[in-house]
Amino acid sequence: MAGHIFQDSKTPASVEKITNTSKRLSPLLALLDLVKPYRARFWLATVALLVSSGLGLVYPQAARKAVDQALADHSMTQLNRIAAVLILLAFIQGIFIWVRHYLMSWLGERVVADLRVRVFDRLLGLPPSWFHARHTGEIMSRLSSDVTVIDGLVGTELSMALRHGLTLIGGIVMLLVENAKLTLIMLSIVPPLVLVLVWFGRRVRVLSRALQDRHAVTATRVEEVVSSMQTVQSFVREAREASTYRGNVDAGFEQSVHLIRWRASLFSIVTLAVSIAMAVILWVGGREVVAGKISGGNLLSFLLYTVMVAAAVGALASLGGALQRAAGATERIFEILHTTSDICDPPDPQPLPAGGGAVRFDHVEFSYANRADQSVLHGISLDVAPGQSVALVGQSGAGKTTLTALLQRFHDVTGGSISFEGVDIRKLALSDLRRHIVIVSQEPVLFSGSIMDNIAFARPDASPAEVESAARDAHAHEFIQGFSNGYQTQVGERGVQLSGGQRQRIAIARAILADPRVLILDEATSNLDAESEALVQKALQRLMVGRTTLIVAHRLSTVRDADKIVVLEQGRIVESGRHDDLIALHGTYQRLIEHQVVRGVISA
Ligand code: ADP
Ligand code: MG
Repeated sequence: MAGHIFQDSKTPASVEKITNTSKRLSPLLALLDLVKPYRARFWLATVALLVSSGLGLVYPQAARKAVDQALADHSMTQLNRIAAVLILLAFIQGIFIWVRHYLMSWLGERVVADLRVRVFDRLLGLPPSWFHARHTGEIMSRLSSDVTVIDGLVGTELSMALRHGLTLIGGIVMLLVENAKLTLIMLSIVPPLVLVLVWFGRRVRVLSRALQDRHAVTATRVEEVVSSMQTVQSFVREAREASTYRGNVDAGFEQSVHLIRWRASLFSIVTLAVSIAMAVILWVGGREVVAGKISGGNLLSFLLYTVMVAAAVGALASLGGALQRAAGATERIFEILHTTSDICDPPDPQPLPAGGGAVRFDHVEFSYANRADQSVLHGISLDVAPGQSVALVGQSGAGKTTLTALLQRFHDVTGGSISFEGVDIRKLALSDLRRHIVIVSQEPVLFSGSIMDNIAFARPDASPAEVESAARDAHAHEFIQGFSNGYQTQVGERGVQLSGGQRQRIAIARAILADPRVLILDEATSNLDAESEALVQKALQRLMVGRTTLIVAHRLSTVRDADKIVVLEQGRIVESGRHDDLIALHGTYQRLIEHQVVRGVISA
């Protein structure tokens, strides 16, 4: 923990056999993919969108009619009729706007909810190496803020963009119908404007992405500091952390201002272009009216369409920035979604044979992908018969934990193979493999919730009686009974703080309930004081009965009772055998005992 906040914040460039295929699809197209299950609603929404936007285009026509016919003829009846039709259209348009808004927002919420679930599902399937290469804060920021950005995108921005896009196209078509010459004059400003917009848009996108990344970095640091506050305070790092934070926030501010400058320029350029276009149209069109070539109503409706088109262009330009930002967020979310790992079920998994937990390491080679040049395990061959207990001893860093992680397939071997019940573990379904191998580690992980929930984590369908029986076997029942809420006592942040020994015994009860064929004890007692260690030791002994056990231990009494002791040194098996034989060798094992790596008094 203490070292955690000082960790290097760079992430390794390549991660073990994890492939990212997100470059295949443009992010917004990928979003559209998520809409597929709701096709019917999508098309209905699109129809409502078309109708409501289309009806909007009728108003300038009505204005033209009013000016050229009703006003020119001084006809009250015609004017009344036009007004009545307009009001009727307004009601119809209102209904379609409601339908459009409701369905589009519904789709947005639905897609985002689906997206959250898919991202979380994907996270659950990723191997430890992926998480080692990232910070918790960064992942959380993707799940919360990036998804929120997409929420805005799908729920409102995308449908606004569609609506304005339709108005833009419809408006231009109507303009061409009204007066092709005037329209061409107006449209002559469009190509340069589009070029400017594209160029600005690209800048905005790059800057937005940089800003989001900056926020993620800041959030990561905050997360680390908050979760290790005691370490920060005990090393009197408050002032340093405060200034680092201020530095990050200020840098974020600078980047935001930079972004704002670009957005402001974009906005004013668009407005300027539109105003000039209006002035030119009024001037050119006005001359045609004066010359009697077009009617006043004609010019009025033309100006109204121009206003509509201009408003649509302006809205699209400012939406462009939001869309770009959302594209950045979408890209990162889909980066997670398209990450696949080689550590997954084989296409045609073999059924797990019945057995008592036979494990075999066959010339296993391994190196971590982020340090591929440094080999962690070399030529490890080890046969563990059902029910046997094997103690792994060696200096810290020798590779003991790595060896146990390979057995559960949290990493794949880089050479050789591991088999379980005689089957290569890469040919088994992951769930079959892991269900029968349970690790009790140095730091038991308890989730927030009741003690009952925490024990039943191994088997949610277990009855309260089964949970209690497991707790009794783990010597945990007594202290659990001591709490006023018994098994319903909440653990963790808002509940009872448990001692290391108590947590460990809950973890053991969980393992007993899981009833695995193979048990891995990774320094399960090394963090405990002598008294809790004795209790935990008793619980472990109970748990080991009738199971294959791999024990990583420092306690001589535990090691001595093992059926086989394997001594690891820098990733190699240097000695193996029973206690007395190894002592007689006067080799590494003996040295480990002398140097108290394996602690205890030799009673010989
Ligand atoms: P032990 O459990 O015997 O103390 P480990 O199996 O934890 O040893 O570590 C063996 C070696 O692998 C060490 O050199 C360690 O630095 C390295 N190592 C452990 N975990 C990782 C990891 N996630 N990425 C890269 N190297 C690692
Ligand atoms: Mg270890």
